[in-house]
Amino acid sequence: MPRWSGDVLTYSASYTVDVTYRCAKRCGYCEYRSDSGGLIAWDVIDAQLDEAARLGGREVLVMSGEQVWLLPDLELRDETAFVDRVIEICRRAMWRGLLPHVNVGLLTGESLARLKPYSPSMGLMLETGSDDLRAHAHGGGKRVADRLRHIEDAGRLRIPFTTGILVGIGERRADRERALRLIADVHQRHGHVQEVIVQNFVPKPATPMQDLPGATLPEMIDAVQMARAILPASVAVQVPPNLLAADGWVELVRAGARDLGGVSANGDSVSPSLPWEPVARMREKAASIGFVLHERLPVYPDIDADLQPAADELRRALVGDEVTYVVCRNVNISNVCVGSCSFCGFMRRSHDAGGAWHHDHATVFAKIEDAVARGATEICMQSGLQPSLDLEYYEDLFRRIKDRWPTLHLHALSPEEMRYIAELAGRPAAYCIERLRDAGLGTMPGTAAEILVEEVRRVICPEKLTTSDWVDVMRAAHRAGVRTTSTVMFGHVENWDHRIEHMRVIRDLQRETGGFTEFVLLPFQVERNALGRHYGIRRSPSLQEVMRYTAMARLYFGADIPNIQSSWVKLGPDGVAESLRWGANDFGGTLMEESISRASGADHGQNLEALEIEGWIRAAGRTPRERTTTYGVVTQRPRDLTVPLRPLPVAGGGQ
Ligand code: SF4
Repeated sequence: MPRWSGDVLTYSASYTVDVTYRCAKRCGYCEYRSDSGGLIAWDVIDAQLDEAARLGGREVLVMSGEQVWLLPDLELRDETAFVDRVIEICRRAMWRGLLPHVNVGLLTGESLARLKPYSPSMGLMLETGSDDLRAHAHGGGKRVADRLRHIEDAGRLRIPFTTGILVGIGERRADRERALRLIADVHQRHGHVQEVIVQNFVPKPATPMQDLPGATLPEMIDAVQMARAILPASVAVQVPPNLLAADGWVELVRAGARDLGGVSANGDSVSPSLPWEPVARMREKAASIGFVLHERLPVYPDIDADLQPAADELRRALVGDEVTYVVCRNVNISNVCVGSCSFCGFMRRSHDAGGAWHHDHATVFAKIEDAVARGATEICMQSGLQPSLDLEYYEDLFRRIKDRWPTLHLHALSPEEMRYIAELAGRPAAYCIERLRDAGLGTMPGTAAEILVEEVRRVICPEKLTTSDWVDVMRAAHRAGVRTTSTVMFGHVENWDHRIEHMRVIRDLQRETGGFTEFVLLPFQVERNALGRHYGIRRSPSLQEVMRYTAMARLYFGADIPNIQSSWVKLGPDGVAESLRWGANDFGGTLMEESISRASGADHGQNLEALEIEGWIRAAGRTPRERTTTYGVVTQRPRDLTVPLRPLPVAGGGQ
């Protein structure tokens, strides 16, 4: 289990794609640049991106020599033409659900602005704090002021940024200190530097500086400590784990480094002679000094950065401009529940409690009849946990519903309900799911997930199913051919580490089963539940925070889960419309009746007509499309809507 409170070390699973190995400069230490060759061909790049997607990493490091448009034989007209090519590489990466991290040398602010939607984070090494190093005397030079201007422009554009220094290229200790202070200054102005690499120079054969000694471990320890002392705590110090002999990186972690950077699945193109060791091995070594090694996104969630353009672009690349919704009705059998989740304002302890309700079959059928008459293709059913709502009850109910409306889709039973049903039956969840599937269960909601990290669950829902229970029920459903949604309920006691870990749990299962149809963001509703009172949480997460998580979810899941849904019940239709700019592509359902969120304090109504949803989507400049529960095209409905309706009885029931 992850241990978030302890010492965490991170890395990013990446893959390197190069624009060209040519370069207009000639740094004395460089093993990357080449005097021959041109732009890397598109078929090579496509094959690399295919491999990157297959290997399951998330980040694609897009690299190049510097200012290559100055080399006439490459036939790049100017910087704009070069950036066009970089954007095209990023686009092709995004189509495959990968996140580009562009590090292609010095660019103008205009180019950075153009790249921003296609590269959620970017990088440029400052290298050092002095202009007159021998390392840069061989050709072209690298001026500190130029590089700082680039980093400053990225800050103005709120681009999450990686920079760093080189140690041992002939600079003095004072040069390193100056470079780190310059980085700290620019970060203070913009808050965009998420990590600073402290990289040791390693002499490479056949380079002008091949005879130099390279940085020593004591020099590196000193540089890491200096970086830690100068940089604000929010800026991670990164060290490359492949460039120091004899596990030197472990000593650098002891000295204050907390990130190992992008571990590229296809090797280090800057230092091709120095491969990384397997992540599992690095994890063991980290553990031996008390650290847990976690994979992270190329974007740090707590950085002050503008993720909207990249999330929006990735959404467009993966699912286009359509926004989907489903015509469905929530039909809940009962709000009487033996569970005790502190954030739930829905449940009543017993049938005698005030506000308790329990619908009989006649009421349930009247509600479904009403929904079908109004064009519903799906019934969503979740209720409290009670001994009477057992396997036989649901099996019988589902059969009766399907007998009457064979094409109606039943989206029912949360993992918690399924676990409880299995417990009542004394059989595994897989067995119950198969029986219910045979009785008509179509898909299951992936609710009850809340935050899939035990230290959070112990606080908010200690009696609810554990993370591994949730994963087990979902896995059993997927294996039985019952697809499910996935959800997160956030904005209470959890932090960003928990939110990312939650998504990792879901992504890993998705990579195993492919059974999740979507990821649904459910911001915590504070008003009417004990958790908010107990922890003094006065407000639900702000719209800005919800948008930020929406963008993170889009960037995190990429092609693994291409459908990201916002909840209009929680956010209001205007909030969902805004989320469509931040990576969301699904509006959820019409619901027609929504009692769980409303009982917990959500302000927004019970029903949104399909036409209203379409109006909100069109107003956001996007194209609406009604979908089936599993994102297919609606070809049939339980009721032919061209036949006029007879007047309906008002649906019965106590809500
Ligand atoms: S280090 Fe970068 S700028 Fe210097 S020669 Fe190599 S590729 Fe070019």
